[in-house]
Amino acid sequence: MRVDFLLIGQGIAGTWLSYYLSKKGASIIVIDDAAQNAASRVAAGIINPVTGRRVVRTWMIEELLPFAASAYEQMGKELGITALLQKDIIDFFSAPDIKLAFEKRLQEGEGYLKKWDSPLLNDFFHVDFGWGMISPVYMAQLEDILPAWRLHLTANQQLAEEKFDPAQLFLHDGHISYRDIIAQKIIFCDGVAAANNPWFSKLPFALHKGEALILEIPDLPRENIYKKGLTLVPLKEKNYFWLGSNYLWEYKNDLPTEKFQNEARQKLNYWLKLPFRIMDHKAALRPANVERRPFVGIHPLHPSIGIFNGMGTKGCSLAPYFAKQFAEFLLSGEAILPEADINRFQKILSRT
Ligand SMILES: Cc1cc2nc3c(=O)[nH]c(=O)nc-3n(C[C@H](O)[C@H](O)[C@H](O)COP(=O)(O)OP(=O)(O)OC[C@H]3O[C@@H](n4cnc5c(N)ncnc54)[C@H](O)[C@@H]3O)c2cc1C
Repeated sequence: MRVDFLLIGQGIAGTWLSYYLSKKGASIIVIDDAAQNAASRVAAGIINPVTGRRVVRTWMIEELLPFAASAYEQMGKELGITALLQKDIIDFFSAPDIKLAFEKRLQEGEGYLKKWDSPLLNDFFHVDFGWGMISPVYMAQLEDILPAWRLHLTANQQLAEEKFDPAQLFLHDGHISYRDIIAQKIIFCDGVAAANNPWFSKLPFALHKGEALILEIPDLPRENIYKKGLTLVPLKEKNYFWLGSNYLWEYKNDLPTEKFQNEARQKLNYWLKLPFRIMDHKAALRPANVERRPFVGIHPLHPSIGIFNGMGTKGCSLAPYFAKQFAEFLLSGEAILPEADINRFQKILSRT
């Protein structure tokens, strides 16, 4: 079988790259092993314009947020699903300095922050120092997007559900071959697996582990996301919420830990007035890196091998924007943003 591109991985990165390549008329095949502990299958899908104790804007959010909003909406229309919902964050201040930082940013005219009065919240939460609102915030509906795009790829005979084996990849002049597939290029969208991938393991990956609980909380309003250290996110299923997450740089494996479950339960008991039931506990490694910028581009020594990775904690906002940019680079030679282009690691990647 001959195609233009062989993609490895159908997390949110591989989904968006295969979407834009197909849309621009390229022929593709995607190999994905459907690992349930892939970051995209554990993530909440939040696209949040501001972060941290100082409530600062995230990198490029002025471009990424509107781009993501229209890209997910378009993909949703084409697949017949709701791919994105606006769910603003009610940010509960956990300490006086956090409240002050929020109010300072609000006074400075930060457009993503709002005052929001709803005494009803006192019925559901123990409130220490008040709250503010972050808006607009979106939630990519990963639970629907990934299976719907997979179904689309399967229907078009563009998906092989199996584990990719690097030993069976051969590089030729101007193309690659993998079993019965011949492609102009292979692009790795393989998430944390790339940190051990023979071609890209020298990139400065800094993987970290994150965990989430799936909770049943009857009676908690579902219009918004609630945040107080941990984030409580309404899921599609009635009464279900996602609660996460932690950031562990030291870990033995990618499995859920009792420690997280106990700490999260304790925090929630302090914060939430309503009863809740733990239905599930998930964990995954995030494909993060020391620069917190994506890895997009072609290997400096191997023009038939590319990577679309390094999405860290922000795959849902970064993937659509940079997938379109990468597809335009691959098909028409348009530039990749230098901060995202793996050209910046040319020296490291060229070392043999
Ligand atoms: C707890 C948690 C919460 C998060 N919350 C958010 C959030 O709210 N918002 C946000 O934007 N981001 C969030 N993230 C980060 C987000 O999950 C990642 O940025 C994103 O999912 C990375 O996507 P990816 O496609 O690059 O990698 P992955 O999701 O890991 O996808 C890689 C795919 O490649 C496949 N694969 C790998 N190796 C092989 C192989 N050899 N053969 C075949 N298939 C292979 C895997 O099965 C997988 O399907 C969160 C992460 C975690 C862990």
